[in-house]
Amino acid sequence: MIQPPLTRTGAGATFLNVRVLLTNDDGILSPGLKALEDAFSPEHEVWVVAPDGERSGYSNSITISEPIRVTQVAERSFATSGTPADCVILATLGAIPVMPELVVSGINIGPNLGSDIVYSGTCAGARQSVYKGIPGIAVSLNSFHPPFHFQPAAAFLVRHLPELLELWNPDHFINVNAPNTPEYAGVEITTPAMRRYDDRLLPFEPPRGGTYYFVDGRPEKAELEPGTDWHAVENGALSVSPIMLNPVNHEVERHYRLSAFMQTT
Ligand code: MN
Repeated sequence: MIQPPLTRTGAGATFLNVRVLLTNDDGILSPGLKALEDAFSPEHEVWVVAPDGERSGYSNSITISEPIRVTQVAERSFATSGTPADCVILATLGAIPVMPELVVSGINIGPNLGSDIVYSGTCAGARQSVYKGIPGIAVSLNSFHPPFHFQPAAAFLVRHLPELLELWNPDHFINVNAPNTPEYAGVEITTPAMRRYDDRLLPFEPPRGGTYYFVDGRPEKAELEPGTDWHAVENGALSVSPIMLNPVNHEVERHYRLSAFMQTT
């Protein structure tokens, strides 16, 4: 299976040297991906397999009814016509000559908090990695507008990679959300917030008939619960959430099993 991360000793210090695959959903040219590449490259073996354009909101979708084009754009960097999940599948099935020991997805432009996780292509990159038995970390920045402070989030990951890999197990991926600030008020271990959107349609009429719509949404104002990812980043802290892959709740399941309708066939 997967080899554990390599520990190498040099110049009197022991450091991790991990073969890391980077992907994202904003496309291979995104500055968030570049920030991760810059931060990981000095100590780690970095490979990039990322979509050739934006795939935000593609969730964990995969391409199965058509081929996926892979184009090498640098020695260890590949652009694909697929989704973030496709990129991880490609990279772990031999489209690159090595097997990644870690997948980091991001840094996304915009947060992936609470229910955003369901729709997020960024989170899907990390989730798909864990489906393959490889540690997966999704990283997102809490702003859609420049100037972007990617570097502190990338540096946090590199600095704390040994602890994060130690904490990780194959039940979950790690979802990191960073405030868009040069410094953080702290680091919080959080659970996903309930985040609902106030969606609306923006229609426009093309010259030859039909109607086109943009779906535009903003998170509804909510009382932010302490301990949640949304609360943490709104208060200037970097949020780290373990996100379980298996949607199991035995208490609810038991409730169903004991319900009257199950007794009557
Ligand atoms: Mn995105």
